[in-house]
Amino acid sequence: MPPAAAAAAAVALLAAIAAIGGLWSLIRRLAAAEARTARAEAGLRQAEADAHAVRAAQGSRADDLALLGRYGNLLIGCTDLAEALQISQQMLSLLLPDCAGTIYPLIDGEGLAEATHLWGNHSAETRLQASAEDCWCMQRHRMHQASTTASEDLCAHVTVPGQGAAACVACIPLTAQGESLGWLYLSAPGDGPLPKLPVAIAAADQLALALANLRLRQSLRDLSVRDPLTGLFNRRYLSESLAREIARARRRGQPVSVMAFDLDNFKDFNDRYGHPAGDLVLVAFAHLLRANSRSEDIACRQGGEEFVLILPEMELSVAMRRGGDLMKVLSRLELMHEGQILPALTTSIGLAVFPAHGDTPEALLALADQALYAAKSQGRNRIAVAS
Ligand code: GH3
Ligand code: MG
Ligand code: MG
Repeated sequence: MPPAAAAAAAVALLAAIAAIGGLWSLIRRLAAAEARTARAEAGLRQAEADAHAVRAAQGSRADDLALLGRYGNLLIGCTDLAEALQISQQMLSLLLPDCAGTIYPLIDGEGLAEATHLWGNHSAETRLQASAEDCWCMQRHRMHQASTTASEDLCAHVTVPGQGAAACVACIPLTAQGESLGWLYLSAPGDGPLPKLPVAIAAADQLALALANLRLRQSLRDLSVRDPLTGLFNRRYLSESLAREIARARRRGQPVSVMAFDLDNFKDFNDRYGHPAGDLVLVAFAHLLRANSRSEDIACRQGGEEFVLILPEMELSVAMRRGGDLMKVLSRLELMHEGQILPALTTSIGLAVFPAHGDTPEALLALADQALYAAKSQGRNRIAVAS
């Protein structure tokens, strides 16, 4: 090859190598740019997914808050325990759809609780009746969480499920104004944690506050209508309820018997055995009236040693029998006071019946009173009927 041609070929080769190098670096730059674009796109997709998840979480938090607010408003409007529990059952099942729940309101001062309101199917069953001693949250005064995989941590009211059924459970105390009002039991399938636990705690706080308010309202109501010594209804409630019973009886064409009691020679008894012994007799007599009454009967203490029993839908002959029975039970009453057995007391009874003797509360009470004093003047320890 002539030298000139060789030189030209070499130049062409170098140019080709340079071009290939340039092309290669272009390809690498393009590939890097493509990778960057793909990474950016993936990042964008992730960011979108994250934003969606955040929006969804915010949305469900907003839904929860709205539901909690609605639940609180509904509780404020409740006038009794049954209504508050009914509303709680509905709202808690909406707020905690992935849990089953049981509400345990304490039903007495002894720490007994009865579950009447529940929702869902428990992954770990629980007894309907339980005592505060059966529940760790009541013993420790704070929430208790456990799993069926560690059954030794479960409360005594929870039944350990069969093999292979893992469940997580929580007991949340219902405490408000320092008062323990019961607890909320929740269970869900799986190892836990229990779904939406913070929502459950917020809902339990609302429920506890409502239960405390209802209890307060009930004790205020009781204070205004109950006699503090005997727990029977007072004179004010007597007139109100007699008016109501007469109106009801009139609509139904039924009688109402009104029985007035006055313990015989109670002043002598007090003088002889002392006022505290007299109080004991009054409490025992009130108990006797309640224990021997139907659920619809209304037992009142008018004042002192005077009592009234309203007996809806009871006619004269039945009321006479009832009065006789009460006198018999009273004659068998044995009470101990300061180491001595107190003598049995007797009572006189005056009876008036709606509509035969009168048709207003005032007339019936006055007639029963007149009959009572007739019984006194006839020698006490007897029943006299209004004329
Ligand atoms: P009678 O057979 O005629 O009804 O005679 P009595 O002694 O029962 O009647 P009286 O009305 O003279 O006496 C009622 C007594 O009841 C007088 C009072 O000391 C007593 N008393 C009134 N309230 C209470 C109370 O809350 N506790 C006690 N222990 N006694 C009371
Ligand atoms: Mg009297
Ligand atoms: Mg008396």
